[in-house]
Parts: sequence; structure tokens; C-alpha cells
Amino acid sequence: MDVVILGAGIAGLACADQLRAAGHQVTLFDKGRGPGGRMSTRRVDLDGRQLQFDHGAQYFTVRDDRFRRLVQVWEAQGVASRWHAAGEDAWVGTPAMNAPVRHMAEGHRVHFGHHVVALTRDVTGWHVRLQDGQHGPFHAAIVAVPAEQAAAFLGAHDLMMAADAMAARSQPCWTAMIAFEDRLQIPADSFRQHGIIGWAARDGAKPGRQDGETWVVQAHGSWSRTHLEDTAEDVARALLDALLAHAEGPVPAVRYCAAHRWRFAMTPGVDKGALWNEALRLGACGDWLQGPRVELAWLSGHRLGTMIGSAAAAA
Ligand SMILES: Cc1cc2nc3c(=O)[nH]c(=O)nc-3n(C[C@H](O)[C@H](O)[C@H](O)COP(=O)(O)OP(=O)(O)OC[C@H]3O[C@@H](n4cnc5c(N)ncnc54)[C@H](O)[C@@H]3O)c2cc1C
Repeated sequence: MDVVILGAGIAGLACADQLRAAGHQVTLFDKGRGPGGRMSTRRVDLDGRQLQFDHGAQYFTVRDDRFRRLVQVWEAQGVASRWHAAGEDAWVGTPAMNAPVRHMAEGHRVHFGHHVVALTRDVTGWHVRLQDGQHGPFHAAIVAVPAEQAAAFLGAHDLMMAADAMAARSQPCWTAMIAFEDRLQIPADSFRQHGIIGWAARDGAKPGRQDGETWVVQAHGSWSRTHLEDTAEDVARALLDALLAHAEGPVPAVRYCAAHRWRFAMTPGVDKGALWNEALRLGACGDWLQGPRVELAWLSGHRLGTMIGSAAAAA
């Protein structure tokens, strides 16, 4: 089959890996400028140097054996490493969080910077409409975008799938990215739940980074929801103040401070794994079907790709 996947985050790419292994042709469209999705990395030019921040997922767990085998390959290829500061089974991408997704995308036909505005179906098959054109027909279509966006695509074709997506609506997360001239006097490289902070980490201390004293600070869910429409400047200031309140000793000069609003950050998940409508040849995968973690998003995509591969073999 010729399969189109909307969204080239870790779930869409995990599905693509399985489909390709089963002999299908896969084309992915992603609106992002580069690979990562919610595992993306923000790069900032400052004083002739580039800073980077893992401003989405902070680390990932490796508990499933199938995922472990893949992560071992990533480790051997230098795109993932353990990061004990976040826990015994915590891993990060190296040299940046988006490295594993970039690595996965390299093996596929992925069109980045392509925002899909509609998914339609006629007698010839599935078509994707972009802002400036249309692609298709494809024999099958996979929706691998966050729940809120998935609901909009699925609603025109399968109301049950759309209802599942509506039930998995996400929490927002305001995230600050901060660089200091010198070390901030906080002994641990990560901490959780302090005032308005849900999580904070010395990003530059992760393996493979060379950014000096950089921090990523996430507001906890309820604060992010209450302050969702605040300006990025106000939020950056509030999260910087909260971080400094946790530090001791003299405060180093701030080189950079900005905030990013993730409107759809953490989904509660609907625990269905993945969805596949064989009659329509329409599928859905992503963290919203398995749980709000990188590993679970990968498992959802892997599960869907395996399911379609075996359905096609049986037909
Ligand atoms: C702030 C934050 C912190 C997190 N921390 C952790 C953590 O520490 N550990 C952990 O395990 N998980 C964490 N997560 C969750 C984790 O990042 C996600 O569960 C996982 O990355 C989801 O992968 P996905 O492929 O399902 O979705 P995504 O990564 O969101 O991929 C979906 C892709 O679809 C694309 N897309 C969306 N709409 C369209 C469209 N219309 N057209 C084309 N493309 C489109 C997007 O650009 C994106 O690349 C965090 C998430 C956030 C936001």
C-alpha cells in the first residue's frame, strides 16, 4: 500500500518503521520546520554562538523490551544516552532531545514544513490538502498528531475515533528557557514541584551538551492553565523569579530568557493503544492513545504499524 502519515513525531515515525518493514510505501507530512514534534529542540543565536534548549520532553523512560532494543541502537549510534539526574531509567537524545527523531526521519520520505489542512477521501483513495496544494491518492491514511488536532481530521470520517480523541484533551505547559553567565547555586541538576515550578532542569548538564549554564523550567499544569493567555514575557519573568527563589548565593547575570507555550502538552490518554478502521483504511496513533510519554507514543505507533502490516498480510 501507499500510506500517508500526518505528523512525523515519534509515534508517526514508529508506525512508518513498521509499515516499511512490512513492504509498504510511506509518505509523511509534518508542519514543523524540522524533526522532533514535542521532543523538539529550540536553537537560539546569541552573541555569535548558538544555544539550544530541550523545551519539550525532558527525558524518556525505557521499560518496554521492544523500545529498549531500539534505544540500544540509538545509544550505539550516539543519538541517545542515559541521564541519571532524572532517574535510574531516564534517557535523553544526544546532542539534543530531537536527535532520535531526526535519526528515525532520515530513513523515510518526510516533508517538513508541510501543514496539512484537510484529509479527504474519494473513490481513488485518500488525499491530503496543504495550504498550497494537494497530495494523493493514497491507499491508507494515518493520523499521528496530538488529540485536539487528530479530532478535527478524524471527525469527517469516523466519529468513534474522533470521540476518543476528544476524550484525550491535553493539559498546556508554559516552559521557560534561561541562560546564565555563570553557575546558578542549585546543587541538583533537576528538581520537581517547587512553587509554580512543576519541573526544572540544568539543560546544559545533560550528556553531550556544551551550552554552559542553561535551564529549562516548566510551570505545573494548573498554573499553565490559569495563565494560558498571559504574554510570553510575563511568563518568562515569573518562571525566572521562581527558579531564582530556589537558588542560593549571588545571582549570575541572565544572558537569555524566553518562554514557550505548549497548548497541547500532556494528554491523559485513552488507553486504546492505537486505532485502525480496516474498511476505511484509516488509522490513528500517538501518545493520546497510550499515555503521556515518549516511550508510550513510540509504542502506539509501533502497535499501529504492526497491526496494519499483519492485516494486509492476512488479506
Ligand atoms: C513540555 C513537555 C514536556 C514533556 N516532558 C516529557 C518527559 O519528560 N518525558 C516523556 O516521556 N514525555 C514528555 N512529554 C510528552 C512527549 O513529548 C510526548 O508524549 C511525545 O513526544 C508525543 O509524541 P507524538 O508523536 O504522539 O506527538 P508529537 O511529538 O506532538 O508529534 C506530532 C507531530 O504532528 C505534527 N502536526 C500536528 N498538526 C499537524 C498538521 N496539521 N499538519 C502536519 N503536521 C502536523 C507536529 O508538528 C508534530 O511533529 C512532554 C511534552 C511536553 C510538551
